[in-house]
Amino acid sequence: MAAASLFAIALTSSAAFSQSDPIGELMLRQGLETGPPVPLPAQALPVVIGVNLVESPNRARVLIEISDPVDVKAFTLTNPNRIVIDMPEVLWRVQGESRPSGRGAIRSYRFGLFRKGNSRFVIDLNAPAKIDPVQVLAPDGSHSFRVAIDLMPTTPEAFVSNSGWPEGQVASAEPPRTVAPPPPPRANNSKRVIVVDAGHGGIDPGTHGQTGLQEKNVVLAVAKELRKALEATGRYSVVLTRDSDVFIPLRERVNISRAARGDLFVSLHADSNEQRSVSGASVYTLSESASDVETRKLAEKENMSDVIAGVDLRGENSPVASILIDLAQRDTMNRSARFAETVVSSLPVATTVRPTTPHRSAGFAVLKAPDVPAVLIELGYLTNTRDEAAMATSAWRLKVGQAIAKAIDSHFSAQTATPGRQAANP
Ligand SMILES: [Zn+2]
Repeated sequence: MAAASLFAIALTSSAAFSQSDPIGELMLRQGLETGPPVPLPAQALPVVIGVNLVESPNRARVLIEISDPVDVKAFTLTNPNRIVIDMPEVLWRVQGESRPSGRGAIRSYRFGLFRKGNSRFVIDLNAPAKIDPVQVLAPDGSHSFRVAIDLMPTTPEAFVSNSGWPEGQVASAEPPRTVAPPPPPRANNSKRVIVVDAGHGGIDPGTHGQTGLQEKNVVLAVAKELRKALEATGRYSVVLTRDSDVFIPLRERVNISRAARGDLFVSLHADSNEQRSVSGASVYTLSESASDVETRKLAEKENMSDVIAGVDLRGENSPVASILIDLAQRDTMNRSARFAETVVSSLPVATTVRPTTPHRSAGFAVLKAPDVPAVLIELGYLTNTRDEAAMATSAWRLKVGQAIAKAIDSHFSAQTATPGRQAANP
C-alpha cells in the first residue's frame, strides 16, 4: 500500500511526459539515455597496417602505421587510467604488432570500431602518463604514414586534473541528455518483439579462446542464427542491438530494448575461466545481490565493457534503483526468471549445459531495462578446448540459435492464456 501511494506521488510530481513514460524519465535522470547513431562515411576507409611500440625508461612511443593521414584526438581517462585515441573509422588490417614489455608505462592496448564513423585505440597505463601533441609522420622508405603518440611520466595529481573529455568533443562523446519520446504504440500487435543482443563488438572483443576465437564474433553469429529461426516462425519480429562488428555501450543496448518495446531481451555471451576444465552454458538474470561469488565476478567482468571501450562514465549512477522502477521490475524479474528456466531446459539438445546451478543471478548492467524481461546467456567457455572447438563451427551456432528460438517460442506459447506485458503494467 505504501509503495502504491509513493508510485502515485512520483507520477504527479514529475514533468508532463512522465505520465506516458515514467520509467524513461527515471532512467534519463540516472544517465541512461543516449543520442542517435553517427552516420557511416561514404568514401573508402584508411587502412591501419601496423602497430609498433618503442619503450625506453622515461618515454614510450606508440606508432600506428596507416595508409592515409587521419585526424586524431588523444585524451586520458581515469579509473582505470587510460589513453583514448579517437580517429575517423578505419579498417584494421594489422600485420605487424609489438606487445608491451609490461615494465613501462603501457600495460596493454586494443583497437577497433567504437561506433559507425569512429575508430578508437585505447592504451591501458601502468603509471600516470602525459601525452605530447599527436604527430602524423610522413611516409619514408620503409613505412607508410604513421601516427605517433608519445607518453611521458607525470604525477597522479597532474594526470587526474588533465583527464576527461577534451573541450568541444563532449557533445559527440556524451550526447545531450534530451528526453527520449515514449515508445510509439505497436504497429502490429500480433508479433512479439525479441531484442537479441550480441555482447561486446568493435573495440571490445570480449574473451577469447586458445585458437584466438573471439567472443564478439561467436555471439554475433549465434545472434544471426537466432534471428533467422525466430523470423521463420512468423510470430516474432527481431531487433538486433548490433548486426556488425561495432561497439555499443551497455546503456545504449538497454535503450534499444526499451525503444523497440521489447517483449524479451536476450543477451548472448561466452565465458572464460582460469580452470580450463569448466565448460557448458549457463543463463543469468538480474538481481541486486549476486547468487554466488563466481556470478558476481562474471557480472563485474561483463559490466567492464564500457570501460574497455573508453566510454566516459562520469555521471553514471549506481544500479537503477527507485521505488517506481522496483514496481515495474518485480513483474519483469519474475518473467525473466521463468524464461531463464525454459532456456536451461531447452539448451541441452544443442550444447553442454553447466551441471551445477545453470541459472544464476547478479547485477548485470545490460539486463537493467526495468520493463523488459531479460536474460544473459553465457553460451560456453572459450577457455575450454571442447567448448571452443564447438563454438568455432557453423553447425553449433545454428543448433544453439534454433534451441534458444525454441525456448522463446515455448515461453510465449505458455503465456498465451495469461495477460500480456502491456496489460500487466500500471
Ligand atoms: Zn561477454
